[in-house]
Amino acid sequence: MSLIVALDSPDREFGSLVEDLCDIVDGFKLGLPLLMGRGVDYAARLRSRCNRGLWIADLKLADIGHVMKLTTSLVVEHVDAVIAHGFVGIQGALGELKEFLNSLGKKLVVVASMSHPGAREVYDKALPLILNVIGELEPWGIVAPATRPQVITSIRERLGDSVTILSPGVGAQGAEPGAAICAGADYEIVGRLITSSNDPRAAALAVKDAQKQRLQACKRGA
Ligand code: C5P
Repeated sequence: MSLIVALDSPDREFGSLVEDLCDIVDGFKLGLPLLMGRGVDYAARLRSRCNRGLWIADLKLADIGHVMKLTTSLVVEHVDAVIAHGFVGIQGALGELKEFLNSLGKKLVVVASMSHPGAREVYDKALPLILNVIGELEPWGIVAPATRPQVITSIRERLGDSVTILSPGVGAQGAEPGAAICAGADYEIVGRLITSSNDPRAAALAVKDAQKQRLQACKRGA
């Protein structure tokens, strides 16, 4: 199963957690509070504890291309992929960022929608426009909410299999492990359900087990 762990808290020492989870997860997503609170060098320190899997800087960029490239360049050497918002469009923004990341052999991930309830207020209404941007830009990956699997399914139908879909919202925000993968996602991103557990390794193994069971059930059409 495909599991990425979100590390967000700036007050936590995540080194031993990263080491503990290294052989059973598919990567780590580093949030802005962590990167701003601990500094970008912390990303390098964490990565030295687990040099495998996909490491993502969740910068949620939404600016002109020039500034997004400046921000990205501060952390990009320590990660494989960077997350940006889709609504800023391609010209003078995401197009420049994608070119910059391509030149470094790094991946661009674009937010198609978000997992919190307020995403219905604007994000869901703008989804067709954002999908136009994504369809033209062809980023490596997109973010779509595990909390609303029907959004994932419609995105997968619209964009096909070539894009990688990463879905946050599992656990603390209410989605069950495996629901997003059943709907068409490639990876589920799980934060607090694992990081706040007294035994993060056991929590991650439980998520993987639940994903497997859910996937078997949805393949049977349950
Ligand atoms: O702790 P929890 O599992 O809710 O963490 C979810 C993670 O996914 C957080 O890092 C949050 O920033 C991120 N995220 C999200 N919704 C998006 C994009 C990212 O919840 N659309």
